[in-house]
Amino acid sequence: MGEKMLVIDGSHGEGGGQILRTSLSLSLLTGQPFRITRIRAGRQKPGLQRQHLTAVEAAAAVGQADVRGAELGSSELTFVPGELTPGDYRFATGTAGSATLVLQTVLPPLLRAAAPSRLALSGGTHNPHAPPFDFLAKTFVPVVNRLGPTVDVRLVRHGFFPAGGGELVASIAPAATWRPLKLLERGEPRRRCARALVARLSPDIARRELREVERLLSWLPAETAVEEVCDSHGPGNAIMLELEFAEITEVLTSFGARGVPAEAVARSAILQAQRYLGSDAPVGEHLTDQLLLPLVLAGGGVFRASELSLHARTCMEVIRCFLPLNLRADAEPGGGWGVVVGGLERACG
Ligand code: ATP
Repeated sequence: MGEKMLVIDGSHGEGGGQILRTSLSLSLLTGQPFRITRIRAGRQKPGLQRQHLTAVEAAAAVGQADVRGAELGSSELTFVPGELTPGDYRFATGTAGSATLVLQTVLPPLLRAAAPSRLALSGGTHNPHAPPFDFLAKTFVPVVNRLGPTVDVRLVRHGFFPAGGGELVASIAPAATWRPLKLLERGEPRRRCARALVARLSPDIARRELREVERLLSWLPAETAVEEVCDSHGPGNAIMLELEFAEITEVLTSFGARGVPAEAVARSAILQAQRYLGSDAPVGEHLTDQLLLPLVLAGGGVFRASELSLHARTCMEVIRCFLPLNLRADAEPGGGWGVVVGGLERACG
């Protein structure tokens, strides 16, 4: 290997699991070994939790890596990548740990592999503080596919927090040629809809959420839908507001929780939609941080973002630790951010 060990401070910036996941992806992409200290020191329950551990195991499997410190609760980990090995894999978070975040850890390196892969991932598919499957399928994957690869995701079974038990399958065909992204406008509005999912709970919860959307956003009943989920192991509720434009679809989600009235759950998603609609930038808060790594693979790109979260800033810093890339986010005069990402080829020569 011979590469000098890179040391990443896991408590830096956002101080969450994303620093670890981004480091794993970049290590597999660059062959750079790393040690991460103070993992998730910024969180109430610091150290590796199930979801993070599964992400480490998944990265170790696809990259034939040597790993030290991969235990529940561990606050330090050493990861030495070997050969990137595309193929058929199955990874399980065991509980409701987010399956979508595990996918996003190994997707960037597998997009650069010499052959296609197929991943079956079980755990949570609809978790708070993680991309819900619908966001993955409608917002994230279509933009990734614009860069050149062909990624297809399919929901086999819903898994809500806390019971989990969901499953998704991803087929990943690497790009023959990569296209840098230029995503500056949303394009014409095409469709909007509010979907309220209920699993093993009264559909009345969903109806109340949708009435709040009609009341506060003046959407028509025809633009709303109650979806009763029958395949989930445990109970769950989520409201998703989908805003489809010619160039981008944004999905804004809020999850039901015990003791929180349905109307308040809906209002959280409504507020997110109002913030997004208050800007004309195509890329919303969550896609901004999730798009940075795919753009590095694609040879770079530019996009306009409605917000620049601490997650996005931290992700940029982690990328800079691994690669000498040009990464910039400039505030625009009318609000929003212009984000510029330099590409892998340019950095590696
Ligand atoms: P933690 O360490 O905080 O327990 P974690 O490992 O689960 O957390 P974070 O580091 O907080 O994860 O990263 C969460 C990721 O999920 C980010 O990429 C963020 O953009 C994304 N995300 C969170 N909520 C949503 C949402 N509603 N829609 C889409 N993506 C989301």
